[in-house]
Amino acid sequence: MITGNNYIGNKQSAIGEKTYKTFNPQLNLENKPIFTEASKEEIDEAVALATNAFKIFRTVSGEKKASFLNAIADEILALDDELIQTYCSESGLPEGRAKGERGRTVGQLRMFADLVLEGSWVEATIDTAQPEREPLPKSDIRKMLVPLGPVVVFGASNFPLAYSTAGGDTAAALAAGCPVIVKSHPMHSGTGELVASAIIKAAQKTGMPNGVFSNLNSRGIEVGSQLAKHPGVKAIGFTGSIKGGRALYDLAAQREEPIPVFAEMGSVNPVVILPSALKNRNAVLAKTYASSITLGTGQFCTNPGLILGIKSDDLSSFIKNLSDEIIKIEPSCMLHPNIIGAYEKNKQNAISQAELQVVADYDLDVPTNYARQTVTTVKGKTFLENPTLHQEVFGPYSIVVQCENEAQLTSIISKLEGQLTGTLIADGNEASQYPELISALRNRVGRLIYNGVPTGVEVCASMTHGGPYPASTDSRFTAVGIHSIKRWVRPFSYQDWPNNLLPNELKNENPLGILRNLNGKLTNQSI
Ligand code: NAP
Repeated sequence: MITGNNYIGNKQSAIGEKTYKTFNPQLNLENKPIFTEASKEEIDEAVALATNAFKIFRTVSGEKKASFLNAIADEILALDDELIQTYCSESGLPEGRAKGERGRTVGQLRMFADLVLEGSWVEATIDTAQPEREPLPKSDIRKMLVPLGPVVVFGASNFPLAYSTAGGDTAAALAAGCPVIVKSHPMHSGTGELVASAIIKAAQKTGMPNGVFSNLNSRGIEVGSQLAKHPGVKAIGFTGSIKGGRALYDLAAQREEPIPVFAEMGSVNPVVILPSALKNRNAVLAKTYASSITLGTGQFCTNPGLILGIKSDDLSSFIKNLSDEIIKIEPSCMLHPNIIGAYEKNKQNAISQAELQVVADYDLDVPTNYARQTVTTVKGKTFLENPTLHQEVFGPYSIVVQCENEAQLTSIISKLEGQLTGTLIADGNEASQYPELISALRNRVGRLIYNGVPTGVEVCASMTHGGPYPASTDSRFTAVGIHSIKRWVRPFSYQDWPNNLLPNELKNENPLGILRNLNGKLTNQSI
């Protein structure tokens, strides 16, 4: 049952004065539960508990962390229909999507459980001593990855499960050995509370220290700002707007002890359609992209918001086909009145720019909170000269840019802000004729897609979900897949440390049997 309380470690608490409700965008009504925003005292207590819990949790074995993560997955599944119904009532998203996202969330938790159970992820690196080395003897040095400390996670509005309370950031941080304090997203605080209850149950069942997890409610930026400035917090994970992510990044940088902020923010995900593909697959591509632009009402960070081609009759007919196809799609509900408000405002701002032509605009009546899809087009030169047209319009919106030639197309790509993805649509051997264009695209994005759509982010070890700023605040890391654990750790070396005092990962005997770099060679042998 949803109480509206915060979880301060294992305890439920609601001593604050500010309350709020979530909103059902399908019914255009507030949901019933009343949530109490976390007070300053509760924030301090959650951080103090996390700091204490870290002393124990950072030494917990991979086997025990795996049991904890698997238990969270089990407890989330046990929430069953209550979770699915709450998710739908707070997001306007359909039941199928809720179930799919729950599957992804549970899958991510189990993936990290497997990773820490196996154990080699710590990248143990050992250079044994060379006492006879001339002119100076060499010490025994052993390195591994160790957790940073308490992490604050800001859940995403557009992924109430997979990138929120027990989502990718939380699963990766717990796997690393970092206690987590979630700043619950105000649009889906009920979903967040249910998932938080599952994490707390799992922590108690598997004997994790009190404070390994807390969940704080808030509506407004105060709780998040206090957490970002709190000296006990050692890193931040964020998914959302550039404005929010950048504000937290700046706050964290201004602290006496600056801390890393891993923010995954906006992206327009450029798609380049080369001439032969445009000629041979025009209608199919238009249909595919009409679906991709409107998928999830365009509320994906990988939504294709920018399509680029070289001016031709084929590009003109693609624009016509895309418009015809997208208008056929039934509009759907957005997550929240604020999100649809932002969509309408940003779309109007884009449309009001000089020399922009609206080619598809769903103009039939739609229910409240439903988004009308829109496609616009503009000349390459106009796009190049107007940075407003480069900005993300979060929702079912895309702009097709008609470039004069390949040089202008390459120049546009080079001048784009950092992006999560870039897509190349090409036929046969066509791509090999555009090395400069491809090179420019690779330099601006975190993932290059060939003949596909950017929507759909597979959770697997080889995935990069990140990219140059502002796609993310640190392009060296991914927010999806097992390597996202590296955001929450730092390298640490022992020099000439007694074998019996080393962690198991670095002991001579290699008791965990993990893969280690021993004097330059990867092996799981003992020393
Ligand atoms: P948001 O406004 O960035 O908020 C995300 C979270 O960060 C919320 O919990 C919010 O708290 C907190 N926050 C925001 N600014 C903060 C600040 N200055 N200090 C401390 N905390 C702060 O994103 P959103 O609510 O998810 O959606 C708003 C817009 O973000 C959308 O319309 C869309 O344009 C964009 N968005 C983009 C993506 C993407 O993947 N590209 C994904 C989601 C959203 P409070 O709400 O409590 O203030």
